[in-house]
This record gives sequence, C-alpha cells and structure tokens, in this order.
Amino acid sequence: MSFLKTILITPILSILAASDFLFNLIFKNENIFLYYHNITSSPSEFEIRHRLSQTKDQLETQLRVLSKFFDWGDPSNPENFNFNGKAKAFLSFDDGYKGTLTEGIEVLKKFNTPSLHFLNMSLILGNEPYWVQVAEEGQRLGKMSYSSPSEAIFSKSGKTWLQEFDADSEWVKACEDGPVFATLDDLKKAEEEPNVFFGNHLYNHFNAASQDSDFLSYLYLENAQHLDRFKSALSYFSYPFGQPDLCYNNDTIRLIEKLGAKRQFTTTCVSNKKRDSYMIHRYMLTEDESSEFKIKYSLLEQKLRGFLFFSSKA
Ligand SMILES: [Zn+2]
Repeated sequence: MSFLKTILITPILSILAASDFLFNLIFKNENIFLYYHNITSSPSEFEIRHRLSQTKDQLETQLRVLSKFFDWGDPSNPENFNFNGKAKAFLSFDDGYKGTLTEGIEVLKKFNTPSLHFLNMSLILGNEPYWVQVAEEGQRLGKMSYSSPSEAIFSKSGKTWLQEFDADSEWVKACEDGPVFATLDDLKKAEEEPNVFFGNHLYNHFNAASQDSDFLSYLYLENAQHLDRFKSALSYFSYPFGQPDLCYNNDTIRLIEKLGAKRQFTTTCVSNKKRDSYMIHRYMLTEDESSEFKIKYSLLEQKLRGFLFFSSKA
C-alpha cells in the first residue's frame, strides 16, 4: 500500500488538491461534516500528544478555505442536512473543551459559522474525571493490568471504572494537568450566540460499544437530562472515539435511536451522499492542515479512505 501510495495516490491527490476546479468537481455534490476538539493557544500535554487542539489562527485559515467551496450547514434546521444542490460544510466540536467554547466561538462568529458541540456533561460539571486520561496515567504509573490505555478504554465497562475509582489516588491526581473543559457558565454564555448548538456525547467519555445496554442508556439519558436545561440543545448524538465496529454497531445504533437521538455522528471519514441519512460520518482537520493545499489534500485523502473502507465492507 505504501508503494502504491508513493507512486500513484500521492501524485493524483496532489493534482486534485492543486486545482480549485477539480476539488470542486469532487465535493460539489455532498454535504461534509467536520469534527474538531479544542481550539486554544495553551493545550495540555494530553491534547498535544493526541493532536486534539489547534489555535484560533489555524481554525481561521481552515474556515476561510472551507468557505470558498462550501456554504455553512445549520444543524438546527433538519432540512439543511439534505443535499439541496449546493455543497454545505457542517462544523462540530467534540467533548466540550473550554478553549473551543470561549476562544473558538470568537472565530466561528467572525465567519458566521453555525457549530454543534457534543458535550460530556460530567466533565462540564466536574463530577467525574476524564477517563481517557485516567487510563493513560494509570498505565504510566503502572497501576493497570492492561497492556495499553486503549485496551483499558475499549475493553473495560464504565461501571468497572466507577467502582474502582478512588478520587484521592496518586493516579487520579496525576490527571490534574489534563484538558480543561468548559463550565456551566461558559455554556450559558456560549448559547447566547444564535449559531451555537449542543449535542450529546454520553455523560462521560466511555466507549459506547463496551457498555451493557442499561449502562449505555444511563450514560445517554443522564447527559440528555443535563443538556435539556439549555435552549440550544439538539437531540443529536456523537459517539466517543467514533470508530466503526470498535465504538458503535447495529445494537448501539438501535438503542440510541430508541432513546431519542434524531441523528448519530461518527468519526469515520466518508461521503454523506445519501439523502437524509440517519448516520452522519465526519471528516477531521488537524493543526497539520495549515494551508489551502494541505486542507484540500487532507479532505480528498479522507474521502478516498472512506470510499475504500466502505467498499471493502459492501
Ligand atoms: Zn470525544
């Protein structure tokens, strides 16, 4: 694959990315959905390690390029999800970082871009630690019997995390320098903006597919109940981690639909051509996509990857 990539894929994608006409030709018949994490000038070590943040200037560069090729999609208008002859880009931000909901919103306002923020309300309320980081610190301090943090995240149920949780442990204290999440006050201020909307990302950032149905229902409904106090809350759901099979499957999709989600979002990069699709797959732009060429190249590459992935499953 890497040989093929060097001699074939990279040059073709480069040609497509260098041409506005060709890029437009490829993307003009679809709505694209993007997901981001934190927008901040002071990310934590954890965010740097996992490439979860970028600066306001970087976001601004990306919005400028996107606005050249796409209209902005408005998630609060269900009709807007349908392709109506003009390509739209929808922006979403996962987890509820303070930087995004304070600094990031300033940039979105400048471009008049609607945004959908998928929140873990236990992190906003400060009721529980951020388990993904707890798993990493546990590994680092030798407190876990798992071979890797991801094995812990994807194999351990949320109930077990809660049972084993000791707020005073050295392990949990080591997480204090982690990502900073928005507060309730930040959310109240953010929702004064007419283009800011909130969605459900489970009460804490557990992997949906690793939970039994009762606990998954609790994580969804508990979060929904806290979100309901905001007039900007929409009944949309994004899967933590968001990868097919590992993080969601037919059982989770059915259950979460039954619990009230009007649409479910993943992190698989693939075209959303089907009219009024219930499952929405998203593209990602990181701090590496710092020029028009790189942004277009990345979107083309993700589209190709999504196409190959779904063709292999068909
Ligand atoms: Zn997330």
